[in-house]
Amino acid sequence: MSPEKRPDFLISAEGLRVDGRRPDELRPIELKVGVLKQADGSASIRQGKTYIIAGVYGPRELHPRHLTLNDRAYLRVVYRMATFSVPDRKRPAPSRREKEISMVVANALAPSIFLEEFPKAVIDVFIQVIQADGGTRCAAINAASLALADAGIPMRSLIPAVAVGKADGKLVVDLGDEEDKYGQGDVPMAIIPQTGDLTLLQQDGSFTREELMEAIPMGISACNYIHELQKEALKRAYVRRPEDGEDDEDDDSYDDYEDDLETDLGEADLMEDED
Ligand code: UDP
Repeated sequence: MSPEKRPDFLISAEGLRVDGRRPDELRPIELKVGVLKQADGSASIRQGKTYIIAGVYGPRELHPRHLTLNDRAYLRVVYRMATFSVPDRKRPAPSRREKEISMVVANALAPSIFLEEFPKAVIDVFIQVIQADGGTRCAAINAASLALADAGIPMRSLIPAVAVGKADGKLVVDLGDEEDKYGQGDVPMAIIPQTGDLTLLQQDGSFTREELMEAIPMGISACNYIHELQKEALKRAYVRRPEDGEDDEDDDSYDDYEDDLETDLGEADLMEDED
């Protein structure tokens, strides 16, 4: 592969970015729920060329036991990049960066989960980066939050995340790899949409106070948009929509419910009184 060259500009004379986006424009995002058969919950995200899968197991018994927390579940997040996910082969051994991202993703997700409902248990979140093209920690949070919901873990909210960065001195939302490498810094953030509380706020590079005061609302607004996409992805997975021409009332889900009752109670309990 030929060595990567720094682009001549990150913001064009027309004010557009290397991939043609406006400064406040996100990359195309595709979210899917329930993508793994074995996991209790799972989701995938494609954000531009970044592609990540998250799988959730639990709540379940925690090993090793010495990590047990008596008042809440232990949220164990493992973020890993596939060896083929980056241009240079990624060494399989966990790097310091992967350990740091595992920790910040756990901290970003934990405030949304009712961990206190499962003392002594563990909730495992495995995140695999299949292809990295910038913004993997935020994309990982977007997918992991959906995977937790898919696993039926009680949560206050889904957590959306995005990074705002600086390219050629201009604030831009959702950096691609070139902007990440050749820009002047980025501020990844995650929020609880209902309250606007930040559950992740990091900074790489230098920003003036004014730039930060502008970057944070830009990120929050992008997070609110991603939150809508997350809700739509969950609905697509769980809400059965009537097919074209099908009448809603033909829906046989209520019959299924009655069948379940018969199985649970025994037919006799459902028979009407004969007096
Ligand atoms: N990256 C890479 N090799 C690595 C780690 C990262 O090429 O070993 C690239 C990858 O595209 C990643 C980007 O650098 O998305 C930015 O990495 P950073 O540590 O800023 O985290 P991220 O933006 O992915 O959350």
